[in-house]
Amino acid sequence: MPVYDYRVQPDQTGCEFCTNGFEMMRRLSDPPLTHCPKCQAPVIKIITAPALGRSKSMLDDRAKSAGFHKLKRVDHGAFEKLY
Ligand SMILES: [Zn+2]
Repeated sequence: MPVYDYRVQPDQTGCEFCTNGFEMMRRLSDPPLTHCPKCQAPVIKIITAPALGRSKSMLDDRAKSAGFHKLKRVDHGAFEKLY
């Protein structure tokens, strides 16, 4: 079963759990996780690796400049990190 990384959406305020990011095992047949299981804040799936959380504002800027809405369509509420 794959494990995915999630965190609260950059423009949203989440709880301590999702602000720091969390891992969740998901079956491929499961619907996409779109909200924090603890505080119900909207979350995004982080498809590529670690080291997120160092610069939230940088992520925001990158997301905007990279066409956030286009990326967001990849998978309901998720986007691919580009680096
Ligand atoms: Zn939360």
